[in-house]
Amino acid sequence: MTSSIYAETDWHARACRLRPDGRAFIAGERQALGASFAKHSPLDGRLLGQVARCGSAEVELAVRSARQAFDDARWARQAPAQRKVVLQRFAALVLEAREELALLECLDMGKPLRNALQVDVPASARCLAWYGEAIDKVYGEVAPTGVDALALITREAMGVIGCVVPWNYPLIMACWKLGPALAAGNSVVLKPSEKSPFSALRLAELALQAGLPAGVLNVLPGYGHEAGEALALHPEVDAIGFTGSTRVGRCMLEYAGRSNLKRVYNELGGKSAFLVFDDHADPAAAARAAAASLFFNQGESCNAPSRVLVQDSVADAFTEQLVEAARGFRAENGLDWGAPMGALVDEAQLKSVESYVGAGLQEGARLRLGGQRCHAESGGSYMQATVFDQVDNRMRIAREEIFGPVISVLRFKTEAEAIAIANDSPYGLQAAVWSHNINRAHRVARALRAGTVHVNQYDEDDITVPFGGVKQSGNGRDKSLHALDKYTELKTTWIQIDA
Ligand code: NAD
Repeated sequence: MTSSIYAETDWHARACRLRPDGRAFIAGERQALGASFAKHSPLDGRLLGQVARCGSAEVELAVRSARQAFDDARWARQAPAQRKVVLQRFAALVLEAREELALLECLDMGKPLRNALQVDVPASARCLAWYGEAIDKVYGEVAPTGVDALALITREAMGVIGCVVPWNYPLIMACWKLGPALAAGNSVVLKPSEKSPFSALRLAELALQAGLPAGVLNVLPGYGHEAGEALALHPEVDAIGFTGSTRVGRCMLEYAGRSNLKRVYNELGGKSAFLVFDDHADPAAAARAAAASLFFNQGESCNAPSRVLVQDSVADAFTEQLVEAARGFRAENGLDWGAPMGALVDEAQLKSVESYVGAGLQEGARLRLGGQRCHAESGGSYMQATVFDQVDNRMRIAREEIFGPVISVLRFKTEAEAIAIANDSPYGLQAAVWSHNINRAHRVARALRAGTVHVNQYDEDDITVPFGGVKQSGNGRDKSLHALDKYTELKTTWIQIDA
């Protein structure tokens, strides 16, 4: 369908006809529901369906199924070229199901349907296809040893990977784990967030349809302290690929310590700094970019540029432009085509964002736009685009991850001060430098402690580049060929050669 046909589609009617299936997916099939919880949509509070409340019993079944699939090598021993065919078919099926998946994403966690259709689903499919395409082009090494031996360095699949993912980009986060983990030949037990379980469950059905052998991918919905904890503690899980909050990332490290020292790859929170210098020729472009990146996905993005640091001499003009750009991000029902922002994921998230707005006001920041919930009569969890000025880096709104549509403007005088403020954060996921002085741009990019630094843009992103942070933003990298390292073990094989 073209974009104009999408624009004319009655997505509200389509949403009413959808019947999301919340049953767990284990050993290649849906399981009887058992204990469950009701899942409501943040768009308007409607009931979406019952979702399996998996616990240690279901984790045991799923891990056993994944282990058996790995041990009998029904997937791991398939030639890389064969795994590629299956992953590419999987990606094609995801694209075929794009409307259903996008609706599930929108209803489940509140994002605009248009973004889900045009960004989340294609990016997820591209990720699966990319790792499929890559896997038969990855070579091992021969070490430069003496002549009487041959030392081969190869990478082997690890075994069973537990993937625990958040709700903000449910499909993309799942595929960033599934792409490399499955391509490398592992089995996976995936636990989506209890706030967004439906699209991951549907993915498992599509994977089976694409030819992924039963048992290789299992999906367990449920709560973090139940299904998530049991999975991360399980002795037969070889690694955890986690994306979520820094608080739960700590738990993951503890679980590994208390169980089998499984590898833990943490992709955690952020408080990304966006530095605007007065030598940038087009501060309005910088303001538009900051607003577009922050308010995309209602501000529920780990890499949202939530701290905008602006040089004093241009700060007033810049802030006016930022407020103007932010006005365009109205929160609307995500099923309305063209909604600039949707609903926050639930009432708890909305309350948390409201409490940060209160903290900002109390600590003396100047509210320039928004700050209120909106459309309360709809039964949904909507929040206005919010801009604070005169923010100090010691305030809570500058130090803690808000994960909502709130952007803060901080001011600086010198380059050294800007770098010091940017780096004065427990997080180090992303950062940006806006400057037309090439020396400064390089100098500052080098000095910023972040996994990714953008220069004079913020929205470039591609599966070919690693994504991850430093400090308390985590220790792993999703995407790119580097992600394959997380789900493989290096093996050295020494072979004696009689000369
Ligand atoms: P969260 O940490 O609350 O939950 C993430 C996942 O962990 C969910 O599946 C949840 O059920 C599970 N979980 C929760 N408590 C658990 C426990 N005690 N034991 C085991 N599992 C548990 O995070 P969230 O609210 O779902 O997501 C938002 C966070 O994710 C933000 O901090 C955001 O920055 C981060 N995030 C990071 C990246 C990245 O790539 N660095 C990407 C997206 C989101």
